[in-house]
Amino acid sequence: MREKFRQFMIGRYGTDGLNQFLSIASIVLLLISLLTRFSLFTWLGLVLLVLCYYRSLSRNISKRTEENYQYYALKDRVDRKFRGLKDQWANRKLYHYYRCPKCRQKLRVPRGRGRIQISCPRCGTQFIKKS
Ligand SMILES: [Zn+2]
Repeated sequence: MREKFRQFMIGRYGTDGLNQFLSIASIVLLLISLLTRFSLFTWLGLVLLVLCYYRSLSRNISKRTEENYQYYALKDRVDRKFRGLKDQWANRKLYHYYRCPKCRQKLRVPRGRGRIQISCPRCGTQFIKKS
C-alpha cells in the first residue's frame, strides 16, 4: 500500500507551505460552518480542500512552486504590516504616528511636545501637527 502510494506520487508536486495554509484554512472554515450552520463556510472550506489536493497531486511542478513563492511573498508583507501595527500599539504612549499628506510615508513623532512642524524624510513635505 505504501509502495503503491509512493509510485502514485512520483512526478507529482506534494505539499508545501501554501498547501499547509490551505488545509488549515479549510479545517477552520469547516469548523465555523459546523458551529454557525452557515453553508457558505462549508462550500469555501470544501473549495480550499479540493484546491489543496489538486495542488499536491499536480504534475506542473514549476507552476506550483511559483504559486508557493507568491504565497510566501504575500505572507511576508502581511507579517511585516502586523508587526508594524503591534509596535505602534506598544509605543502608543510614547509616540504619535502620522502619515505624510503627500507621499503617505508613516512618520513617528514623540508625544507631549505641543504643536510641532514635521518634515517628511522621504519627500521633504512639511506639515504642522499636535504631538
Ligand atoms: Zn512625504
